[in-house]
Amino acid sequence: MLKVLQRIIQEVNAAHHVQEALQIVVTRVCEVIHVEACSVFVLDPISQRYILIASKGFSEGVDGKLNLGLDQGLVGLVGQKEEPLNITDASLHPNYCYFPQTGEEKYRAFLGVPIIHQRRVLGVLVAQQTKARAFDSAEEAFLVTICAQLSGLIAQAQSAGVLPRLDAHTFEHRVNGIAGVAGVAIGTAVMAYPLAELDAVPDRKIHDIDEEIALFNKALVSAREEIKSLGEHLAHHLPVEEQALFDAYLRILDNESLGAEVITLIKTGQWAQGSLKQVIQQHSRFYEEMDDEYLRERGADLRDIGRRVLSYLQADAREKIVYPPKTILMGDELTPARLAEVPQGLLAGLVTAKGSINSHVVIIARAMGLPTIVGAEGLLLHDIENKTVIVDGYHGVLYVDPTLSLLKEFKRLEAEEKELSRGLEKLKEVPAETADGLRIPLYVNTGLVADIQTSLNAGAEGVGLYRTEVPFMARDRFPGEEEQRVIYRQLLESFAPRPVTMRTLDVGGDKELPYFPIDEPNPFLGWRGIRITLDHPEIFLVQVRAMIHASQGLNNLQIMLPMITNLHEVIDAKALIARAHQELCDEGFLVHMPRIGAMIEVPSAVYQAQRIAQQVDFLSIGSNDLIQYLLAVDRNNSRVAGLYEGLHPAVLQALLHVVQVAHAEGKLVSLCGEMAGDPTCVILLMAMHFDSLSMSAASLPRVKWVIRNFTLSRATELLEEVMQMHHPKMIRAHLENALEESGLGGLVRAGR
Ligand code: PEP
Ligand code: MG
Repeated sequence: MLKVLQRIIQEVNAAHHVQEALQIVVTRVCEVIHVEACSVFVLDPISQRYILIASKGFSEGVDGKLNLGLDQGLVGLVGQKEEPLNITDASLHPNYCYFPQTGEEKYRAFLGVPIIHQRRVLGVLVAQQTKARAFDSAEEAFLVTICAQLSGLIAQAQSAGVLPRLDAHTFEHRVNGIAGVAGVAIGTAVMAYPLAELDAVPDRKIHDIDEEIALFNKALVSAREEIKSLGEHLAHHLPVEEQALFDAYLRILDNESLGAEVITLIKTGQWAQGSLKQVIQQHSRFYEEMDDEYLRERGADLRDIGRRVLSYLQADAREKIVYPPKTILMGDELTPARLAEVPQGLLAGLVTAKGSINSHVVIIARAMGLPTIVGAEGLLLHDIENKTVIVDGYHGVLYVDPTLSLLKEFKRLEAEEKELSRGLEKLKEVPAETADGLRIPLYVNTGLVADIQTSLNAGAEGVGLYRTEVPFMARDRFPGEEEQRVIYRQLLESFAPRPVTMRTLDVGGDKELPYFPIDEPNPFLGWRGIRITLDHPEIFLVQVRAMIHASQGLNNLQIMLPMITNLHEVIDAKALIARAHQELCDEGFLVHMPRIGAMIEVPSAVYQAQRIAQQVDFLSIGSNDLIQYLLAVDRNNSRVAGLYEGLHPAVLQALLHVVQVAHAEGKLVSLCGEMAGDPTCVILLMAMHFDSLSMSAASLPRVKWVIRNFTLSRATELLEEVMQMHHPKMIRAHLENALEESGLGGLVRAGR
């Protein structure tokens, strides 16, 4: 059974669109459990009706046309009960009602299974047979497994807006993701699909068929020449049978075989890249389904040929990309290099299907103030290219082809934001101080030298978190001590006499160095942060030597230790820092011992915060990781993004505890996770008496605005109130209301 399931899943994954995938499922279900009919109904969230999306064994043309209410028929009952319904003779059931247009009245046996995703019924799958019989437990288990697999696919299709709807005229396509960078952007979608990746090529219609065929032929010639010269190059080193492989490759590339099929598809109006993708996928799927390993390998060969031809096609297409004035760059995964290809001034926003809010590219987007959505999983299912889109970076929602009224609403918000930014610019020189006299220094989080000017312009009073892994990521080997010293010096000098908090290398988890791969099944619970650098004192010592050396004569350096889970890690790291300092002094450099801080970002550090505080000069809460570890929610997983919430009561209790114990030890405590840049959270952080907050330069003016327009006494009242609440959503709503009442609604409003 497992093999059968795996094969179905493979087929489903290779389908071009969700309807094709569902059609594959209903066909295979009929074959595997020997039934005559199988159908999938999907619940339309707006009309709250089940729509028949795919069927086998029903009359032709009925898919997409039949719909039924929540309490209608056996399908409705399965949805209501949220469990399988196995009936020997459906016609005898009180809930039975048949729909003549389907021709299903001949079926007796009925097995209906709900399709449930994240506790929500998305649809129902039904198997039916003429002969009255009860389905056995293996058959039921098979359908339950299929439905569990389908649920993710349907949820994704629903959020991408690619399922048939009953109210298609009033609904804009919505893709849900994770809020990456706050702000609103309205523009034109430009897809940045990865190069030479067949599966990522979108479908696209073309008008000039002859030109497209000419492009394809040119790419084919180039690929053929490449393979020929590869073959010639390796001729002396390969046995004859292996050389024959190159001849086979060349034959596949022949115009008469693969090429002819691609050209036939181009003639239907599909562009060359999309046609190539379809032909290669179709043929390679055929081979990959074979049990014979040798034949399966031929599927891989075909894909390799396809990628080669594609890379020539893309080399041509690349030169021709026209970026519209307000480009919203979209892709499965975006890279900083891809961002850099868009000419200056044209980029307005970013949307990625994968990725995390802390990926390198999002850090850059934040520095550039580009509204960004990550984890928009439904993105590539949908043909978005060149369409008008709205990026709501506050809530992580993308609207495709918005209705005029929605567009108007967002244009108003965009204009409001511009107005707000103009107002915020004036705040640069004034302190972050509440009306009743609480002053909170605001620092920036940075990782790029390019950020320095933006940070200074935003009025940063120092750097609260310098992510040193960023310059490490941009290289192809560990940077040497002098190389690091130069980078660190630039930052320390630009901010002096303001403090600069440099975090020691924090890789592992989702932050990988290309030249230091760490392959682990569970990287967030693995070798990361201080664990790596204590295991590699040579890396740690070089880094802290470079930092301390760079601070000579400036004395504004603070060193911060990431991912502390044990007190002894702090003690060991301090000893290494003292050693580096001593070595530099012995070498004749007049350097001061920097202040040392520990990050509190795992629960064990929260419980030991007081003892850690005794060992260091300051604490800084890394709320991004603290939330993930306290709530057991992967910070990069869009499936559980709704559970990742800094305003969870457990997180608030932890923050309050750390501040209280740090202050009891007479130590300063800061917060440098994304919470510090969230206006809603800032109210509570003020009331908790954090000594400073550190955030992206783009968030800083907004946070300053909140602080200057709020009072400590009101914030304290709100803290007391929310500490009595238990639901994070209620806490957020309560605080947002308070922001609205204080005239600060513009900071949190977009998209509501
Ligand atoms: C954090 O975890 O909150 C933090 C600031 O560190 P990073 O996001 O780099 O893990
Ligand atoms: Mg962290």
